[in-house]
Amino acid sequence: MQERQTILIVEDDTDISRLLRLEIEEAGFEVITCDTGVRGLSAIREEDPDLIVLDLGLPDFDGAEVARRVRKTSETPIIILTAKDDIATKVELLNAGADDYLTKPFHTEELLARVNVQLRHRTSDSVQKIGSMMIHPARRQAFWEDNELRLSPREFDLLSFLCSQPGRVYSREEIEKSVWGENLPPSSNVVDVHIANIRNKLRDVGGFGVIRTVRGIGYAVKA
Ligand code: CA
Repeated sequence: MQERQTILIVEDDTDISRLLRLEIEEAGFEVITCDTGVRGLSAIREEDPDLIVLDLGLPDFDGAEVARRVRKTSETPIIILTAKDDIATKVELLNAGADDYLTKPFHTEELLARVNVQLRHRTSDSVQKIGSMMIHPARRQAFWEDNELRLSPREFDLLSFLCSQPGRVYSREEIEKSVWGENLPPSSNVVDVHIANIRNKLRDVGGFGVIRTVRGIGYAVKA
């Protein structure tokens, strides 16, 4: 059974918050609610929700500020609820890192539709974090801590393939098939060469021992 996805609602208006909780739970999600920006930020750290619904007008600081702080460390989708309908506000929200916004008053069905769009979008693009490594499939970027790894396209494909299931050992044949397709000569050592290159690039930025060699079988990234 698939685990239920968690939606965090940061909204100080208790009527709206209660209504959203009911309807979003009804749609099959786990719901957490908070009523200030500060509580929202700590819930994001502690609960790691799949999506954040954020009210723009919060008692401590505004939703755009919350979004900016979230974006420093996380790519979790954010939908902002706003009473303001002007272009300047919308542009500010998108620049702050919001993925979408909804103008109050709105129908919960519309919010749910937008929640589903964001979640669908993220499952294919979702950022993977394995220890100090971070992979952004949509941007085709890989990071070790704050350092972007300068990988060739194949190296990126190989690393993200290994990272798709941290800890799992992939044979050379599996890696070849997934990264190069079926067209490699059988005795090619192209996988080993690429692994060596990726390891060097990781080592240059302090990433030691990230990729494990499993003798006679293949490779795995440490879970
Ligand atoms: Ca409010």
